Amino acid sequence: MAECIAARLAAQEEQIRVLSQEISRLRDGLVNNQHTSSFANSPELENLRSENEKLKYRLVHLRRGLQVELDLEGQARSKPGPESTNKAAKETTRNNSYQKSSNAAQPGTPEIRPNEKNKKKEKPRAEGGAGVGQLTPLPVYIGERLELYGKLKKESDAILAKQAANSHPISVVLPDGRKVEAQAWKTSPYQLACGISQGLADNAVIARVDGELWDLDRPLEKDCSLELLRFDDEDAQAVYWHSSAHILGEAMERFYGGCLCYGPPIENGFYYDMFLDGPRGVSSSEFGDLESICKSIMKEKQPFERLELSKETLLQMFKYNKFKCRILNEKVTTPTTTVYRCGPLIDLCRGPHVRHTGKIKAMKIYKNSSTYWEGRADMETLQRIYGISFPDGKMLKEWERFQEEAKNRDHRKIGKEQELFFFHDLSPGSCFFLPRGAYLYNTLTEFIREEYNRRGFQEVASPNIYNSKLWETSGHWQHYSENMFSFPVEQDVFALKPMNCPGHCLMFNHRPRSWRELPLRFADFGVLHRNELSGTLTGLTRVRRFQQDDAHIFCSMDQIESEMKGCLDFLRCVYDVFGFSFQLHLSTRPEKFLGDVAVWDQAEKQLENSLNEFGEPWKLNPGDGAFYGPKIDIKIKDAIGRYHQCATIQLDFQLPIRFNLMFVGKDGDDRSRPVIIHRAILGSVERMIAILTENYAGKWPLWLSPRQVMLVPVNPSCEEYAKKVCKQFVEAGFMADADLDSGCLLNKKIRNAQLAQYNFILVVGEKEKMTNSVNVRTRDNKVHGELSVPEALARLTLLKQSRCRNAEEAF
Ligand SMILES: [Zn+2]
Ligand SMILES: [Zn+2]
Repeated sequence: MAECIAARLAAQEEQIRVLSQEISRLRDGLVNNQHTSSFANSPELENLRSENEKLKYRLVHLRRGLQVELDLEGQARSKPGPESTNKAAKETTRNNSYQKSSNAAQPGTPEIRPNEKNKKKEKPRAEGGAGVGQLTPLPVYIGERLELYGKLKKESDAILAKQAANSHPISVVLPDGRKVEAQAWKTSPYQLACGISQGLADNAVIARVDGELWDLDRPLEKDCSLELLRFDDEDAQAVYWHSSAHILGEAMERFYGGCLCYGPPIENGFYYDMFLDGPRGVSSSEFGDLESICKSIMKEKQPFERLELSKETLLQMFKYNKFKCRILNEKVTTPTTTVYRCGPLIDLCRGPHVRHTGKIKAMKIYKNSSTYWEGRADMETLQRIYGISFPDGKMLKEWERFQEEAKNRDHRKIGKEQELFFFHDLSPGSCFFLPRGAYLYNTLTEFIREEYNRRGFQEVASPNIYNSKLWETSGHWQHYSENMFSFPVEQDVFALKPMNCPGHCLMFNHRPRSWRELPLRFADFGVLHRNELSGTLTGLTRVRRFQQDDAHIFCSMDQIESEMKGCLDFLRCVYDVFGFSFQLHLSTRPEKFLGDVAVWDQAEKQLENSLNEFGEPWKLNPGDGAFYGPKIDIKIKDAIGRYHQCATIQLDFQLPIRFNLMFVGKDGDDRSRPVIIHRAILGSVERMIAILTENYAGKWPLWLSPRQVMLVPVNPSCEEYAKKVCKQFVEAGFMADADLDSGCLLNKKIRNAQLAQYNFILVVGEKEKMTNSVNVRTRDNKVHGELSVPEALARLTLLKQSRCRNAEEAF
């Protein structure tokens, strides 16, 4: 079996090679013909790309299949096979956080309020020059660490030199299929890049060697494939920001002298956490000094040096820092790991990094906050400093402009201005929706509800609190109880539901089910609660109380493909209405998974088919599925280019087993096992309102708008008429108001209504009163003129019902 797969694998690899050659041939041809601009859009190339993508996908499968076969063969030879597999499977469940994907709707890092008021214990600082504001003398640990490092580096260099002495020729495959010669343990990706072009070498942020990110100066070790990634690559960007975090860390050590903790890249740059002993905090007034230390570090072009060391040596090296020791003791499971040095900073880190600190051209420190060690309120308080960096000053300027734009669109700001919602200390993380916010909320759920009716979903209502026995069955108790609100009820412990699925399993199981009933699609807008740390709560994006447009589809294995198609079509319909474009990602079987490989393969094949038939481009995230099933992640793109993950379509083979769900199959087998598809399109309604608010910047499309129509009487004698027309609109389901402030002039009233984002402003004077009409204009001051009231009402009703995005123009 393994041999057979290996042969197929070889054939696929050959095909990919041929395709890659074809692509580069095409590209060369196009470049030579000076048609570079059409090349990017050429349909042939697009086809080749997608062919290639599919082949890569199949390759991943074949490789995995081969691995599984090899493992099985290995296990067959070494007993006891099945039992050890079983144990491994149990471990897997324990190590995976349950329903990671559903949680993805609430991303973010734990934070507590900024702590700028802490009294500063002034320490002596150096004056002037590059070392502005840095401690004199520098903390003792810096020198001690360097000394130990110097000794170990020599030893390591000797070993590397020995390996280099035994070097042999290797062959490196470039992305276009070309092969170049290199020397094992000598040639670095950077040297190869220089051989291709200096520009490529200069712009490369990081290399990818056999799929693994690799320092540009780290010698290659064997025959391999090589890609050189620039800042525009997502992985390279993370490396770039991660490297920048080291620069910030170095500056923080030199400025504050505390203990560095974690310094990861994030969506917007990076941060570094530091533990400061005593009452000292971080103040934003210190950002300037920190930035100038960072600049001096960037100017020095400090190389990032990599050194692999044993855990014992590392515990010695970081003995002054209990946090790094904790990481070593709790997180590092291998006998050795790596440190990286830049300048005086030596940091525990797996890497990789940019070549030297001079690769960072523009850097800004933009925020600080307090946080806890690993986000746990019972642990030490840490100071977190955020920064961002770019290979070009212009990009930083652009980012700053974008931040300003995002700030103006912040849903918390608009929510307050438009009186949509608020939060109260007496119920943190649970939103109070005011009447206009509630209108938004209900309009969104009503939209989905209408679609449910058209698409064969059945709405159900299920309990909010359940005996903990249910959560034990579902696995939440073991993996998720920290995030659940629980409380004693009589002799038992109950908990508020964090998700609807277990309840729906009880509904499926309350009587025998037949194949004739499948697919059974239960939809539920039930209220969910998750016990997020109070410090992590932010506006509507991270809350404790929320509702989802949640549904669970119970179907048979062979129905997966058509159900997927239905789900994809559903989400396209909804996102089209909002005006969002989206990206699709298929996440397949992870290394640690539960269940049968054949079942996974069959399901993944169906997901792939449904995606191909859907016709939108999609990407593969191999091995990124949940342990209980593959999934499709959908990211929507908002008006200012930010991506948000809202919808997920998640297959689940495990929950039906845990709840022992069965149906009578077509063949009469009464023990047939259904598959569950968890799916949501809005995701959390709360979070979707935040995204929509920021996407539209408060300029709501008519159908969703909490302020649709404003009646403006020209003078007091028309007020009664204005009120009468307003009432007609309200009765027809519009959010309509009349401005009866007689102290306000007509033009001012119109202006106020426009600023308040009323989509339509209906002005009424004596003439309109006589003819039962209104004079229509929009919030953008487009004047549509006089129309009879029934005519205006009919047109607006039609625009509202069609959920038109630009009703103001289309009127
Ligand atoms: Zn690092
Ligand atoms: Zn679910």
